[in-house]
Amino acid sequence: MTRQARQKARKARSNATSEYTYIDEPAGAPSPPAFPQALLQAQKENEEDIVLNISLRPKRLTEFVGQKDILEGLNVCITAAKQRKEHLEHVLLSGPPGLGKTSLAHIIAHEMHSKITATSGPAIEKAGDLIGILTNLERGDILFIDEIHRLSRTVEEFLYPAMENFEIDFVIDKGPYAKTIKFRLKPFTLVGATTRVGLLTSPLRSRFGIFYHLDFYKIEELQEIVERSAKIMNIGVEPEAAQEIARRARGTPRIANRLLRRVRDYAQVARIDSITLAVASKALDDLGIDKAGLDEIDRKVLKTIIEFYRGGPVGIESLAATLNEEVDTIAETIEPYLLKAGYLKRTSRGRLATKIAFEHLGIAYNNEKQEELF
Ligand code: ADP
Repeated sequence: MTRQARQKARKARSNATSEYTYIDEPAGAPSPPAFPQALLQAQKENEEDIVLNISLRPKRLTEFVGQKDILEGLNVCITAAKQRKEHLEHVLLSGPPGLGKTSLAHIIAHEMHSKITATSGPAIEKAGDLIGILTNLERGDILFIDEIHRLSRTVEEFLYPAMENFEIDFVIDKGPYAKTIKFRLKPFTLVGATTRVGLLTSPLRSRFGIFYHLDFYKIEELQEIVERSAKIMNIGVEPEAAQEIARRARGTPRIANRLLRRVRDYAQVARIDSITLAVASKALDDLGIDKAGLDEIDRKVLKTIIEFYRGGPVGIESLAATLNEEVDTIAETIEPYLLKAGYLKRTSRGRLATKIAFEHLGIAYNNEKQEELF
């Protein structure tokens, strides 16, 4: 996908506000919620992936794989809130993209038998955009704000009394006739998701009663996700093949599902009923996903740091400019896994390629400067 296409897709994703109801939905109901048409049209390239992601999205806590501590904690909070017949406290979910934050928000709504209204930080341009959403919320409803770190300061300040006392102040008229009117809201739960928790202001962060950070998944967990998705998609996949896909999925369920779909295409063309290890490996190699799960852009980032910046340290802005990428894309999507897997190190002077990165790219690690820095 080109940089412009990525920006367009990201904007479309950000601008969508949607509403789903889980009230009285029978347990295990298979149909995914209707997806906003505008979003589908704006993201032609990824249309199938989006639809698939929704149909594969776990709907209950018991269907959510991994993140055991988070599930246990959430289960206690949800059960207690239901016993008290109260709304759930506001929940903040942080972590890299594709790890299940949106899924968890929908699961919370499902488990609380409440309605969820989903929007995102950049979609709420002014406080006025929030008034309609907030005043339409019923008691116990969930308001999901994705990319909450991208809310403007004015909108954020408007949210404080809504979160704290379930009331909003709005000003009518201007100048000497200006009047502030208080409006009572029904108690609701705000579920905020962010890929950059560090960018959240502390007054906003402190207004969330429940905070969880989602970490990358283990290979066994991703294998379970691949096998579960294959079952839903009605594809046969041998355990070793599922494990291979899991190993190359950068610790991320969304990537695991995407790779599964690409591998399925290969199996279909080769007229193979069940995905074997050989087919999975061949398909993943052809897709440019190497044995460690790094793709072309990951390798490009490492190569640039090593060859252009002699291993680093390099500031993220310079790196983004050299790569002709957005800073946010590197910071939110590419870098977290490279840091976690040990290919990069973050220092006060910038990003540094580690010995593992040199070895992975087959470049001799003989840089004295590197030794000094480590
Ligand atoms: P995020 O909001 O963090 O970007 P999503 O909740 O949209 O991530 O997850 C992306 C996809 O990955 C979902 O559609 C779902 O199919 C899958 N997924 C994420 N986490 C899990 C999980 N723990 N178990 C099973 N599938 C998952």
